[in-house]
Amino acid sequence: MTLPAEEMPRRCPGIKRDGSACPVPSELLIEEEDAPGTWWCFNHHPDYEDAREVARMKGGTRTALRNRRHRFLDKTDLGALKTPEDAQRWSAVIAESVATGVLNGSAARSALAAVELFVRSLEVVDHEARLAQLEQRASEDESLRQREAALRAAERRRTGADYLRRDTAPTGNGT
Ligand SMILES: [Zn+2]
Repeated sequence: MTLPAEEMPRRCPGIKRDGSACPVPSELLIEEEDAPGTWWCFNHHPDYEDAREVARMKGGTRTALRNRRHRFLDKTDLGALKTPEDAQRWSAVIAESVATGVLNGSAARSALAAVELFVRSLEVVDHEARLAQLEQRASEDESLRQREAALRAAERRRTGADYLRRDTAPTGNGT
């Protein structure tokens, strides 16, 4: 003799991922509208796919918010990294972020090491630029000196010619 369906303990016909029967207790099951007498848990109910999707998205948002407490910095936090002033700002932002728990320690260490490398490369570039500038100025000074020497030589030739003309002009001194 079988028990009437009404008296059978309700079970969700869903199967868990590991293949075992769904263990959700009967008082939490929801009857399927299209199949009266069939009860599902929220996770397995075929009519609740959309609701589950919304719940998953909300959970995702919560997870994202939780992760935001420990997150990586982005460009709006840091700005560009092109000048020594930028490097100074980066260092300050990174230090503050790790101190307030926004950034984790190992990310901060990597970022600060990168900033330090950047600063050192700036110094090298700056040093080379200054050297090139000095060389440029020296060669400019040299060509200026040469131009002035040429001008002076031309001037000497011109005044010399004047002198010659004056010299050959009749002056009537009778020699
Ligand atoms: Zn279930």
